[in-house]
Amino acid sequence: MKVTLLGTGTSLGVPVIACDCPVCQSSDQRDKRMRTAALLETNGQVWAIDAGPDFRMQMLQSKVKRLDGIFLTHEHRDHTAGLDDVRAFNWSTRNPIQIYGEERVLKSVQREFSYAFQEYKYPGVPDFKLNQISNQPIHLDGLEVIPIRVFHHQLPVLGFRIGSFAYVTDANCIPPEEMDKLQNLEVLIINGLRYESHLSHYSLPEAIEVIEQLNPKRAIITHISHQLGLHEEVNKRLPSNVELGYDGMVIEIDH
Ligand SMILES: [Zn+2]
Ligand SMILES: [Zn+2]
Ligand SMILES: [Zn+2]
Repeated sequence: MKVTLLGTGTSLGVPVIACDCPVCQSSDQRDKRMRTAALLETNGQVWAIDAGPDFRMQMLQSKVKRLDGIFLTHEHRDHTAGLDDVRAFNWSTRNPIQIYGEERVLKSVQREFSYAFQEYKYPGVPDFKLNQISNQPIHLDGLEVIPIRVFHHQLPVLGFRIGSFAYVTDANCIPPEEMDKLQNLEVLIINGLRYESHLSHYSLPEAIEVIEQLNPKRAIITHISHQLGLHEEVNKRLPSNVELGYDGMVIEIDH
């Protein structure tokens, strides 16, 4: 299985518009972060986790030619605003794009992209096939996806485990029974916004605490704010099994 981090930035992205801080002014490519999303390739299938405002550039940069579906973690715009751009896949495959999300999340998609769900559709609107999921394992053509219930302040969000890989963005609480589902991981991707604590995201020190409890072979931090600091400097201070993610990072996982 191959995972590509399509974006590793928080909701504003990095650089932030009109910000003169050293991170936003950095020339290091790893300090340029599109909104958080990932691509998963396994058994010839290609899946995206989230489709934020940078979806189009992310598909172009990773040269994605085929997309079997999109898993939505939650309905915030930084994870859903790019859904209109699935039109390109609709045209190339002549099929709707499969979207997987919880009931509340799919309702939000129907509201935000209401033009795609009207009875008489304007020609060329995106073609979505909504598939409701819950906190129960899903089986898709031999692929088992185990949802993980996490909390983003009070908002229930889904993380996903596939084999020995797990992805938990936008959260600052994982209940004990869900922590049990995250044992024996080869790779854990988890959000770590900045050093200071935050209402709805793990800070980097909090994310490291969770990583210590779960003890995956390798942990990668995502959903990063410009307030975290320069990639180069922060990354070298991390525990040996923890790294900062960066856009375009490719991770190979043997199931
Ligand atoms: Zn987010
Ligand atoms: Zn900045
Ligand atoms: Zn969010």
